[in-house]
Amino acid sequence: MAAPTIALNNGRKIPALGLGTYLSHSGECARAVKHAISVGYRHFDCAWFYGNEKEVGDGIREAIKEGLVKREDLFVVTKLWCTFHERDQVVPSCKVSLQNLGLDYLDLYLIHWPVAMTNTGKFNASEPFKDAVCYDHDFVETWHGMEECVELGLAKSIGLSNFNSKQILRILKAAKIRPVCNQVEVSPLINQKKLIAFCKERGIQVVAYSPFSAPARPWKKPGDPELSLDDPKLIEIGKKYGKTSGQVVLRYIHQLGAIPIPKSSNPDRIKKNIEIFDFELSPEDVKILDAYNCNERVVPALEFLSSKEYPFNEEF
Ligand code: NAP
Repeated sequence: MAAPTIALNNGRKIPALGLGTYLSHSGECARAVKHAISVGYRHFDCAWFYGNEKEVGDGIREAIKEGLVKREDLFVVTKLWCTFHERDQVVPSCKVSLQNLGLDYLDLYLIHWPVAMTNTGKFNASEPFKDAVCYDHDFVETWHGMEECVELGLAKSIGLSNFNSKQILRILKAAKIRPVCNQVEVSPLINQKKLIAFCKERGIQVVAYSPFSAPARPWKKPGDPELSLDDPKLIEIGKKYGKTSGQVVLRYIHQLGAIPIPKSSNPDRIKKNIEIFDFELSPEDVKILDAYNCNERVVPALEFLSSKEYPFNEEF
């Protein structure tokens, strides 16, 4: 099943669901990406920080080589990490990601977080915050670097991730090129209705990360908010439509007006996760899902708490 597309504010189109790739490990990631393409995925969410852009690119290039798709059919997204926020670091960082992916343009390049961190050159993916500390930096400068990526043809569109409403307004005030999206955590536990409405009024799409509340996150601890796909209420709703609880959650996010990017490396779950465009949850079922909202995050990013740009102290 293919996902329908949604218009962006620059006239381009984004597929209404994508494949997440965080913790898609070496040895399974390329296979997952290629399989996803074979079952209809066209949108891939990556990040320099995930350390697997090369594997994602291998999957994409293999699928193109086998004639499953053409490059122009795909929507490839990656993100600028916090240690490269200086304006003159943005274009070189974008080029590094393109080289990792083995592509000559991105469909979308995002500022991963509104927070800048020092760059000691000692980045270690297994301890990403060990040698980096937050420092004050104006992300509007970073945005101007992002605009240069568009001007140079390296990225077709640019956007934000983890920005709150006030931070978005600061970008909009200074932008020559408007952000097409803001990628944030959206799940039944944090349905982001206010931020989605705020972004919609300004022509900005919301992309929904951790739609299943990231059950495999390494920083999970007792007492964290929890969404279980074994929840009998979700299973019961699914039965009405001949769908799984996971499909119910993804369809709910679609009906909220956001673009889910579930991660899976499992062929069966990859296929099932995109099969959400042939049913509609009734208003009564949406109400049941709305009741899961507790506005708590599974990605609170406490590593950034010392930054004055820490995004999650605002209401939305
Ligand atoms: P998620 O998509 O909520 O959950 C992924 C986990 O759920 C994996 O362990 C996966 O295991 C499992 N899963 C997937 N489909 C399932 C299904 N149908 N039934 C049961 N389990 C299922 O979490 P996420 O990876 O954090 O978020 C998705 C993507 O959003 C990321 O991969 C990344 O691309 C992006 N993201 C962005 C940010 C940001 O700061 N911008 C932050 C977090 C995430 P299997 O692989 O074994 O199926």
